[in-house]
Amino acid sequence: MRRASLQVKFGLSYILVIAAVLVFMNTYPLIVSENLVVRSKQTTLQSSVSVMVTALSGLEELSEENVASAMTLVEDTGISRILVTDAAGRILYDTRETDGAVGRYGLYTEIVQALRGYDAFYADFTDGAFRSRAASPVIYRSQTIGAVYAYEYDVEQATLLLTLQKNLLRISAAVAGFVVLLSLLLSRMLTRRFGVLLEAIRRVREGAYSYHAEIGGRDEISEIAEEFNSLSDRLQTTEEARRRFVSDASHELKTPLAGIRLLSDSILQTEDIDDATVREFVGDIVQETDRLTRITENLLRLTRLDSGIIEPAQSVAVAPVIERVVRMLRLVADEKRVGLTYLVEREQSVRAGVDDLHQIIYNLTENAIKYNRPGGFVRVTLGGTEDECVLRVEDNGIGIPEEDMPRVFDRFYRVDKMRSRAAGGTGLGLSIVADTVRRRGGSIAVSARAGGGTCFTVRLPAVRREGEA
Ligand code: ADP
Repeated sequence: MRRASLQVKFGLSYILVIAAVLVFMNTYPLIVSENLVVRSKQTTLQSSVSVMVTALSGLEELSEENVASAMTLVEDTGISRILVTDAAGRILYDTRETDGAVGRYGLYTEIVQALRGYDAFYADFTDGAFRSRAASPVIYRSQTIGAVYAYEYDVEQATLLLTLQKNLLRISAAVAGFVVLLSLLLSRMLTRRFGVLLEAIRRVREGAYSYHAEIGGRDEISEIAEEFNSLSDRLQTTEEARRRFVSDASHELKTPLAGIRLLSDSILQTEDIDDATVREFVGDIVQETDRLTRITENLLRLTRLDSGIIEPAQSVAVAPVIERVVRMLRLVADEKRVGLTYLVEREQSVRAGVDDLHQIIYNLTENAIKYNRPGGFVRVTLGGTEDECVLRVEDNGIGIPEEDMPRVFDRFYRVDKMRSRAAGGTGLGLSIVADTVRRRGGSIAVSARAGGGTCFTVRLPAVRREGEA
């Protein structure tokens, strides 16, 4: 229904504009030419009449005889009929030979007006002919002694005018036909293109995100279609990421749950199980439960990040947070015989949440220890410039293969699944770090260290300290 109305609207507006142009084209030129003809008739007829008036002007009184003799001197002007009347309106002279009006009273409006002392002219265009009449008074010593009246009947110019009219009509009809056809065609084309777009929108709404609106051309509609296609591409990507996330998350949760189930079954089904074994199994169950807790905590954190819920930002000094993290991880590092040091090249403050900053430094440092070798080292360095805080966490551990580097920030991505799991990893640590850094207006990059191992670099906008030039 709506489609038809769009087509009708386009078509109608087009046709209306053209109709207005055609009406103008069929009236204005005709009115102008008619006026031109009438004006030229007036000049010629009135000048002819004034020639005749001049011929009669010497006469003291008008009579049939002296008028007739005076009129023989007037050249034939081709005027259809000429009448001369006396002061009372009685016709003294008539050029019409058969059925002449001599002797009768010729009280035409123009004659009456002329006898009152005025020049008169009237013309009309009817029945395919121009009829024009002119009359002027004949004056002798300020006395109106009669009137000269001329009447012209012209078909020639009228025919020309009628032909013009007919031609204009013909051209208009052709133009109108063409325009109607064109507007139908154009509006059809337009609605078809809109139809394609509409169909694509419906399909995508129903979940077919890969559906594309195929519209050719280089106009606004094809631009809309292109924008729409990239929108649905994005939807598809987001949808795929969401699905993958849900399936990965369920999988990650399933593994420790299955472990707990298995351990519990073993305790229940083993007859005469000794205390030491029970303690060992329950210890494993506790470990798996810890893992579940870590995963759910991380998932919650990611969901909060996704929905934009973040800690309120405040100016946080970075060095004390590093100190705290190093203190917390010292024992773990010692246990793995990894040397853990930190270096403050430049004191920095950033606008973030204290927890956010702690999480970023903790996750990176913990990874550097986890994926290390006995005898290795981990170094956290704080530096940068007045405007930018640069935080580097380096290690000379097992390193990340070049091809895995772009993916380590993906959710649940691990280079070595077994090793990550054995180390208590969830595969979510780096994606939480990357999301948090981005939310605080910063960036994170990973690179291989020259002497082996890995280097993570976090850049955050620095807060300028008071009193610093
Ligand atoms: P996990 O919980 O598995 O540590 P992360 O998201 O923190 O998950 O890290 C993703 C993967 O990146 C890890 O499984 C590990 O394979 C790799 N990785 C992270 N940090 C380092 C590092 N410093 N050295 C080597 N590999 C690392």
